[in-house]
Amino acid sequence: MFDVVIIGAGISGLTAARDLSAAGQKVAVLEARSRVGGRIYTHHDPEGRLPIELGAEFIHGRPRQLLEIIKEAKLEIEEVPQRHWYFANGHLAKSGEFWSMIDDLMGRMRKETSDQSFREFLDSLPGEVSAQAKQMATRYVEGFHAASSAQIGIHGVSVANKAAESIDGDRSFRLLEGYYSVINWLLEKAESHGTLFKLNTVVNELRWKQGMVEIVAAHEHWSASKVLITIPLSLLQAESIRFWPSLPEEKLTAISKLMMGSALRIVFRFSDRFWEDLKLEEKNGVENFSKLGFVHYPEAPLQTWWTTLPEHEPILVGWVGGQAAAELLHRSDEEISDAALKSLSLIFRLSESELGDKLKSTFFHNWETDPLARGAYAYLPVNGMAYQQALAQPVAETLFFAGEATCMGHIGTVHGALMSGKSAAQTILATI
Ligand SMILES: Cc1cc2nc3c(=O)[nH]c(=O)nc-3n(C[C@H](O)[C@H](O)[C@H](O)COP(=O)(O)OP(=O)(O)OC[C@H]3O[C@@H](n4cnc5c(N)ncnc54)[C@H](O)[C@@H]3O)c2cc1C
Repeated sequence: MFDVVIIGAGISGLTAARDLSAAGQKVAVLEARSRVGGRIYTHHDPEGRLPIELGAEFIHGRPRQLLEIIKEAKLEIEEVPQRHWYFANGHLAKSGEFWSMIDDLMGRMRKETSDQSFREFLDSLPGEVSAQAKQMATRYVEGFHAASSAQIGIHGVSVANKAAESIDGDRSFRLLEGYYSVINWLLEKAESHGTLFKLNTVVNELRWKQGMVEIVAAHEHWSASKVLITIPLSLLQAESIRFWPSLPEEKLTAISKLMMGSALRIVFRFSDRFWEDLKLEEKNGVENFSKLGFVHYPEAPLQTWWTTLPEHEPILVGWVGGQAAAELLHRSDEEISDAALKSLSLIFRLSESELGDKLKSTFFHNWETDPLARGAYAYLPVNGMAYQQALAQPVAETLFFAGEATCMGHIGTVHGALMSGKSAAQTILATI
């Protein structure tokens, strides 16, 4: 019999486990995978100096709660230089123009009083807004929020923009030892306070009444006064855990209405940093990629790529979000890798076979087909804020919910998941 059983050992579950066990609660964490961390998944490649991230990579902005852990754990972070190259119709465009167009559209969006999809909002704009600006904004929103522009609500995007602004969201950082260093530290802390971790344990049923829950995982039964559920939204939608009695109608509606987004992230290690020596003949002279940070090429299957700068490694990371990602992610790994090489060939004007010759290793995790993720991260549909609030609400002071999908403003991020775990722990402690 535990005070609290936490389902899921991603960053939200680990944070809650640490806080609850530090406050003297008897806590167990049940995790379906054979590892903790969930969508934080760092791989250490013996060929390279830097860790390879298969899930989350960036610290977006300066989120206080995450930086506190980093400081306490004495982990090193490095700022990512925001050097963006932007292509329009296959030609290099000024990146400043790109950001000012995005800013202009986001400013117009903020003034809209009624919620609508991002696509509807773009369609309603006057003729003075160019088709190119709309296309760029669509790619940006789909890429960043892993969302379909026809589904994501503009109020949700504005709330996320505002939340990001409050934490210097235009800056980003990387953990030198990889995101897993935060996970390991939280795990260590939670264990030192007595939390029991049980891996390879898929919870499939919760039989509950106020103040008492029986947790069924294959042939094991656990019991607790309270349960904190941190599994991804997609798995709640798939009813991968059955609730007896069923969850309240309001909660079920919230679960069905919120959206799970798709993102494809692939990491290529090459024999050398060939892009640093390339020269591109452009209208305004010769350009080079010697200090390349990020490159955006809207017509490529994988539209965004980045280097490991400020660290110099022969690594390029490719990214696409939204519907385009969802479609690619259902193809074979080989087809995905080919689409990624094709993208680089468009950007650098090198043949796919030249690139293939330089390619040493590929690192990729398909979060879409991963049965314990079924997608990348959540986003808010039109009028989605009320659903998000409903999702985060506890039921009968017995069932509690955390995870990135429940964090207002910081949805879809590591720090949002962490904040949700912290706040769920506080809410649980307040009910004792
Ligand atoms: C490709 C990709 C890139 C990303 N990049 C970034 C980034 O750069 N910066 C950023 O801030 N965020 C990023 N994110 C988002 C970030 O990774 C997530 O928001 C965050 O890690 C989610 O944490 P969580 O605790 O909510 O969920 P999870 O990490 O998914 O944890 C939930 C856990 O529940 C377990 N589980 C599921 N079902 C069961 C069950 N029935 N029984 C027991 N356990 C179960 C799962 O195995 C999992 O370990 C990225 C995500 C992806 C997929």
